[in-house]
Amino acid sequence: MKMLGLIGGMSWESSAQYYRLINEGVRAARGPTASARLLLWSFDFAEIEALQHAGDWAALTALMENAAKGLAVAGAEQLLICTNTMHLMADEVEAAAGIPLLHIADPAGAAIRAAGLHKVGLLGTAFTMEQGFYKDRLVQRHGLEVLVPNADDRALVHQVIYDELVAGTVTETSRAAYRNVITRLVARGAQGIVLGCTEIMLLIGAEDSAVPLFDTTALHAAAAVNALLQSD
Ligand code: GLU
Repeated sequence: MKMLGLIGGMSWESSAQYYRLINEGVRAARGPTASARLLLWSFDFAEIEALQHAGDWAALTALMENAAKGLAVAGAEQLLICTNTMHLMADEVEAAAGIPLLHIADPAGAAIRAAGLHKVGLLGTAFTMEQGFYKDRLVQRHGLEVLVPNADDRALVHQVIYDELVAGTVTETSRAAYRNVITRLVARGAQGIVLGCTEIMLLIGAEDSAVPLFDTTALHAAAAVNALLQSD
């Protein structure tokens, strides 16, 4: 089994899900006492989100490169960034580490195509919904059409992530608000919804949507398990 290097803590609420899902996947494949070989570099998310909201992407890239190098030096052979947003600097991180990065958008794109869908709605942080680094990969590498919520809905989705989900707060009010955002995306033609933030799965499940959900946390973790097991 290869050694996985996870860059996480963004937030730890989702990193904890990754840790559980990856270990459950290895156990299911290898037996009850089997578990994943992995290293976790866990940031203080208060520092990360302050730099994000200050727009200091150069400082964030330097922190991410440093983490990636540290994991590679410690023995990681396959890298995962446990957040969609911080794939903004995925190319730099992979180059700094010198080991392959499993990009979070790729298992999502593959699952959407495997389901026979071509037009999806994307929920995530404002950075993920409004910048090209994530949508463009789904469009260019996976041939998808990607819809994002309107400006008010994007602000709401972003605010719930940073004010509630990263702090482990899950409320019925926010669940209802997200359901409405999903309904509006479906009305515009979305055939599926990408949960493009690794904490949204804490709030939203299949019962909250009329169309299939593509949970990037679960899909990314499953792809990591495949990569680990294929390496034997
Ligand atoms: N975990 C979230 C994501 O998947 C947001 C936290 C972050 O900005 O990294 O985008």
